[in-house]
Amino acid sequence: MPADEALRLLEEGNERYLSDNYSADYSSKRRLETAESGQHPYAVILTCSDSRVIPELIFSSGIGDLFVIRAAGNVVDNCTADSLIYAVEHLGCRLVVVLGHTVCGAVREALHYSGDHPLDTINLIRAAIGGETDPLQASILNVRNSVKSINQLFDEKDVKIVGAMYDIRTGVVDFDILS
Ligand SMILES: [Zn+2]
Repeated sequence: MPADEALRLLEEGNERYLSDNYSADYSSKRRLETAESGQHPYAVILTCSDSRVIPELIFSSGIGDLFVIRAAGNVVDNCTADSLIYAVEHLGCRLVVVLGHTVCGAVREALHYSGDHPLDTINLIRAAIGGETDPLQASILNVRNSVKSINQLFDEKDVKIVGAMYDIRTGVVDFDILS
């Protein structure tokens, strides 16, 4: 599926989620179909492990719809990069969304720590946010950095990479944070 069409499905899915008009295919029929014919997810979502951020719900999506990669602070390291490459090169996904979120504990830890942190994740975020002190702006800078890292993995013609921010209070996904 072309990236723009996939992005429209995500936007529409988030609108359904926001209106409590959630609909997605979790049927046993769909489960059997995807077991038989393999997975063809229309988008890759790299997001945080935070339990309040649930991509399949946020985008009203069902079995086989989204290829989701989760790591605290939605960072790109060797392992998340491997999953991204698999989804794009082997499953043919044309859209990658880096979904940060408000009140991210990993970003907050990076904001409040100086010096070398014992966790690689926090050091990656610290490098991404530099001297930023505002939590939301720091989260946006962290998403921007992951988008930049993913861009380096792929030929830009083949895949669209979008940064977005999920508000854990309102449920809104803002796809325009990097523009
Ligand atoms: Zn988080």
